[in-house]
Amino acid sequence: MRPDFHIVIVGGGMVGACAAALAAADPRLSELRIAVLEANPPTSPPQGDADLRVSAVSRASQRILTAVGAWPLVPSQFLSPYEDMVVWDAAGKPGSAGAIHFSASATSEPNLGHIVENRRLLWALYDCPPFRQRITLLRAELAGMTLERDRAVVSLGDGRVLSAALVVGSDGAASLSRKLAGIETAGWDYDQRAFVTHVRTEHSHARTAWQRFLADGPIAFLPLADGRSSIVWTTRPEHAEHLAKCPPEEASREIEQALDGVLGKVEVAAPRGHFPLRLTHARQYCKDRFALVGDAAHSIHPLAGQGVNLGFLDCAALVQVLAQELESGGNVEALAELRVLRRYERWRKSENLIALGLVDALNRLFSTPNGTLSWIRRNGLGAVDGSALAKRFFMGRAMGTAGELPRVATPDSRPLV
Ligand SMILES: Cc1cc2nc3c(=O)[nH]c(=O)nc-3n(C[C@H](O)[C@H](O)[C@H](O)COP(=O)(O)OP(=O)(O)OC[C@H]3O[C@@H](n4cnc5c(N)ncnc54)[C@H](O)[C@@H]3O)c2cc1C
Repeated sequence: MRPDFHIVIVGGGMVGACAAALAAADPRLSELRIAVLEANPPTSPPQGDADLRVSAVSRASQRILTAVGAWPLVPSQFLSPYEDMVVWDAAGKPGSAGAIHFSASATSEPNLGHIVENRRLLWALYDCPPFRQRITLLRAELAGMTLERDRAVVSLGDGRVLSAALVVGSDGAASLSRKLAGIETAGWDYDQRAFVTHVRTEHSHARTAWQRFLADGPIAFLPLADGRSSIVWTTRPEHAEHLAKCPPEEASREIEQALDGVLGKVEVAAPRGHFPLRLTHARQYCKDRFALVGDAAHSIHPLAGQGVNLGFLDCAALVQVLAQELESGGNVEALAELRVLRRYERWRKSENLIALGLVDALNRLFSTPNGTLSWIRRNGLGAVDGSALAKRFFMGRAMGTAGELPRVATPDSRPLV
């Protein structure tokens, strides 16, 4: 029986919208009918002051977003390139032996990445030509899903029922589609929350991402194009709540001290918020007729700014696997077979495991006051800073240029539209 859609993407956040745009832009998938099911899709371009939710977007993600025509749609005044990154332990100082300094000037790249508001990236993905021209947007909640031998049946909160050859679950860390597919997760809650705001600083951020590791978690200052810095401070839950509620002058003072005064006086210059943190990894990324991408498959501590970047790479890998199957003579019905989807799973699960493991280990190593570990940390940072090889490894992971990249994320990537 002919399904209503070949692919239904459940969850149109940044990752689901990217999967849709990539599938719509790939000429090998041009015959497919694709829908995005999203409870709260954006309806107009974002307005007003910079939103609190921002992401450090890697070079690999930039290439993917450029290929679908979304990157040029983010107004340049909202793209904040950062050219340097300085990371140090609370017991040390930037520029001292116990710090690492990554610099774009040591590479052939113009910068290490960009800080971009999530809602601007999201709007650019919904507004890019392949999404606008080829995607059916279903504004509704997922209510139920069954994976049958010859199709998936998806029921929506408003009573509609659809059939699909393949469902892609991109409905975030608490994914309902993952649960309905019967996929379990491993993971744990961090006893930390991420406090976020934007601040003005006495000294220029100098297009540098600054990160200092404190005993309760790291504080990051991410440079914004308007001269402010976006703060992501991972700390004890009760401290994050205090920072969000206390008088702004008090929060400003605490933030200034947490960065050891490196950027001089600090003034909170935006609303304040905080988010719970959890590590989650799906035990499987696919079943017959179902695949997971983005936070629905894995959620990661934000200290290395990897979450959405890993999600974009998932989308690019999945679309590449599907397109290659069609190119090599497979038929559309075969796309959702486990044999095909497993290629995607093998590829991305191993890459994501490396990132999840590295970031979790860094958080554990740095979030402990133990004196021996503090010595190891300072000397470890110094050793990495002094080793060109180790630095290249960490920079490659941070910029998303290491590991097995989907074609669209490589330097040879060509616009698909
Ligand atoms: C403080 C903080 C800082 C971060 N900084 C960075 C960073 O610098 N760089 C980086 O790469 N990552 C960062 N991340 C991680 C990044 O924000 C996430 O990885 C990313 O937002 C995940 O995107 P997603 O589309 O997979 O999921 P989500 O953003 O959760 O989107 C899921 C979508 O599914 C929809 N949905 C859910 N359930 C249903 C349903 N039943 N029916 C219909 N629709 C549904 C939701 O409405 C939503 O639109 C950070 C995270 C935090 C908390």
